[in-house]
Amino acid sequence: MKYRDTALDAVIKAARVCMAVQDQLIDVANKADRSPVTVADFAAQAIVSELLHEAFPDIPLIGEEDAQTLRETEDICTKVVSVVQQVLPHLKRDEILAAIDRGTYQGGAKGIHWTLDPIDGTKGFLRREQYAVALALIKDGEVIFGVLACPNMPHDLADPSQGTGSLFYAAKESQTFFRPLFGNKDTVVSVKEKPFRFCESVEKSHSSHSLSAQIARAAGIKEAPIRMDSQAKYALVAQGQAAIYMRMPTRADYVEKIWDHAAGWIVITRAGGVVTDIDGKELDFSCGRRLENNRGILATCGQNVHEKLLSIISQLST
Ligand code: AMP
Ligand code: MG
Repeated sequence: MKYRDTALDAVIKAARVCMAVQDQLIDVANKADRSPVTVADFAAQAIVSELLHEAFPDIPLIGEEDAQTLRETEDICTKVVSVVQQVLPHLKRDEILAAIDRGTYQGGAKGIHWTLDPIDGTKGFLRREQYAVALALIKDGEVIFGVLACPNMPHDLADPSQGTGSLFYAAKESQTFFRPLFGNKDTVVSVKEKPFRFCESVEKSHSSHSLSAQIARAAGIKEAPIRMDSQAKYALVAQGQAAIYMRMPTRADYVEKIWDHAAGWIVITRAGGVVTDIDGKELDFSCGRRLENNRGILATCGQNVHEKLLSIISQLST
């Protein structure tokens, strides 16, 4: 597929920068919504945005970040510019800010666009736990390609000595592949019902831990949940390390962002899994930057488990 090589190259370069910055400097600014953002979030968005634009100048980008915060915080801006120039030395400061700002596309039901979360799970990144560079391609509201680069994700959760740093990708017409982040040997992954355990956010403000515990009890899940930041959770289910990913809303007014789910959606579904919202509705990626028609997320290893969980969720919420 013509998009694949460019997309993989871009996210791998961005992941490498995130890892390098983690070792050296993490400067945190706070966005308008008070969520944290680091030098690495901006640098990763600049790199991916620029490499995609050079290869596909006509395909717009919906990215999580814009350069407004950078224009207001000179010291972070200088660091972002210097980090990006280590990868793309031909870019000047203004071009780097412009590349970040190219992520402000609003999207819609028709046409093709990328969506990027340059660091999904910034809180996990700050804790030196899980995070992901997440990139997807959406055509007429349908996710047709997605890649998750997870620098801290063990190749095998049960045996971390096998190596760390994992990449997952899938396309509409393909299966889901895993490869070591800096390797080149692809392996097909697929969902499994066992171990019958679930994963959820570390942050209880992102997903209700008390509700998921009730659901798990009703479903006969005995094992404790795996709590992990970012779309690495979708990868856990896609490779059969967990059977279920639950994201139970904590606020009626929160609407999920497409960059938090598009890559994860295709990585799970092409591995044989099922994803809907908690009402059983298909995720609707055709509404621009947000999943306006959905609430929460349920991702599972297959239709039987999915229906069982949906019925428990609907009973518990009546
Ligand atoms: P996770 O690492 O799975 O907890 O998800 C991280 C993402 O949660 C961030 O990228 C935010 O976009 C998103 N987020 C922020 N606030 C909320 C909220 N109240 N409910 C659900 N997701 C949220
Ligand atoms: Mg995110």
